[in-house]
Amino acid sequence: MSEAFYDLFPRGGPNTVAGQYFSGASYLCPLSNEGGVSVSNVTFEPGCRNNWHIHHAKQGGGQILICVAGRGWYQEWGKEAQELHPGDVVNIPTGVKHWHGAAPDSWFSHLALEVPGENSSNEWLEAVSDEAYGQLD
Ligand code: MN
Repeated sequence: MSEAFYDLFPRGGPNTVAGQYFSGASYLCPLSNEGGVSVSNVTFEPGCRNNWHIHHAKQGGGQILICVAGRGWYQEWGKEAQELHPGDVVNIPTGVKHWHGAAPDSWFSHLALEVPGENSSNEWLEAVSDEAYGQLD
């Protein structure tokens, strides 16, 4: 079912930071980097999701998603996908392969908080196949 969507935070511009690792159009608006805590608003068009990826860090690290608007999905490798709605919070541990994105019929936005870590980096992997994504609704 489609859900009402409106921007609570600025949408920003096309996601030129990591958009090449997304299927579909995404938008990125950096909101804060106070104290080294990166907080961005990420907006996905319907059907858009990022590739499987891993947030690495020698110590600390990981990512927190705070869902803002629309409807989306989060999935960890080997687990069932989890439907996301505004107000949901997802804690993504360092080293866990996962993806996140919109539902096929809904825009979706979340805040992405990068948990500070030592030698942190993102490893981008394969796209979520249309076959696997198509099983979600
Ligand atoms: Mn992530």
